[in-house]
Amino acid sequence: MKKEEQNNEWGLATQAIRTGHRRTAEGEHSEPIFATSSYIFGSAAEAAARFAGDSPGNIYSRFTNPTVECFEQRLAAMEGGEACVATASGMSAILATCIGLLKAGDHILSSRSIFGSTTILFNKYLSRFGIATSYAPSGEPEAWKRAIRPETRLLFLETPSNPLTEVADIRALSDLAHENGCLLVVDNCFCTPALQLPLALGADIVIHSATKYLDGQGRCLGGAVVGPADTVGEEIYGVLRTGGATMSPFNAWVFLKGLETLQLRMQAHSDNALALARWLEILPAVERVHYPGLMSHPQYRLAARQQKAAGGICSFEVKGGQKAAWKLIDSLELLSITANLGDTKTTVTHPSSTTHGRLTHEEKAAAGISDGLIRIAVGLEDFTDIRADLAQAFDAI
Ligand SMILES: *Cc1c(COP(=O)(O)O)cnc(C)c1O
Repeated sequence: MKKEEQNNEWGLATQAIRTGHRRTAEGEHSEPIFATSSYIFGSAAEAAARFAGDSPGNIYSRFTNPTVECFEQRLAAMEGGEACVATASGMSAILATCIGLLKAGDHILSSRSIFGSTTILFNKYLSRFGIATSYAPSGEPEAWKRAIRPETRLLFLETPSNPLTEVADIRALSDLAHENGCLLVVDNCFCTPALQLPLALGADIVIHSATKYLDGQGRCLGGAVVGPADTVGEEIYGVLRTGGATMSPFNAWVFLKGLETLQLRMQAHSDNALALARWLEILPAVERVHYPGLMSHPQYRLAARQQKAAGGICSFEVKGGQKAAWKLIDSLELLSITANLGDTKTTVTHPSSTTHGRLTHEEKAAAGISDGLIRIAVGLEDFTDIRADLAQAFDAI
């Protein structure tokens, strides 16, 4: 590969801007969108050689597409992985990883607070195919150790967790996984490679919902899996090219443009979120603030060691339960009431009645989801405007 396409010496920002673009004969400066479902062969013999795998090159866009490959190479370089496969969504990245690496009889050990659809995938669907899942609290490596079974194959982790921002020790859990012949899979959606590099801390596979910060502007759904060439590049790629949950070239192009500004955005999200968390922490109407950048966070030191910044997600408990939380949310004039996160626009959710609404009262209590809990995915508006909107909403309750 030419130096202008890939260079392992480059820093993260340069990787994010330069890696993967194989310029065509047109000399285009920006990455092109290859809107094509198939590719032509010069002859019948060449077609046969490509299908047989004897000659490299594109065949069909479910298998390979140059715009999608550019995104894959770029994200792989940023995460420090050998291979990356892009998927139609974050959920299809998790599904393809499980189908590619597991079989009936295997067991997944997962952190307790994970994305709602991931729980449903594990509990309702994978269980039908003989794959069992159990859960451990993310901050307690001893509990993980006790929960490992002879048939455990995957340790699955989200850190920081949603919505309470619990931080798990990736290094400790990767050691535990490897001592027991398991792989550690980390969903790096909240931090992105701009703030946290799980593979460098010993994780085997990184998963992304590109829908969130990789796009960063709430436009497209997509996902990715990054890791070793033999697992990600063979097994998981095989599931995708056959099962078909691949990324569209247009979405890949949007994510490529998103990656170019990722580092700047993640720092700015983190700066705004830290300022907001510090402001919330001293408000009399607020019971408790959850944010890894606050000294009051139980894993503050671990987060400082493991992450370059604390990220854009912050949650807090307002006094007065659901009534006060809903009144606060309904009084907002600038911030958006929406379930997405990782957008330039600040978004607000009430987990207990939305993302975690299906849990029983006891399950919510065990997961720490109180009725007064509000999650804020802090955007990139001026901090003074975000604070002013919340201040007038607090006045209303
Ligand atoms: C959104 C999200 C997912 C799922 O991604 P989609 O792109 O919506 O399929 C997985 N994990 C985490 C942590 C998420 O926030």
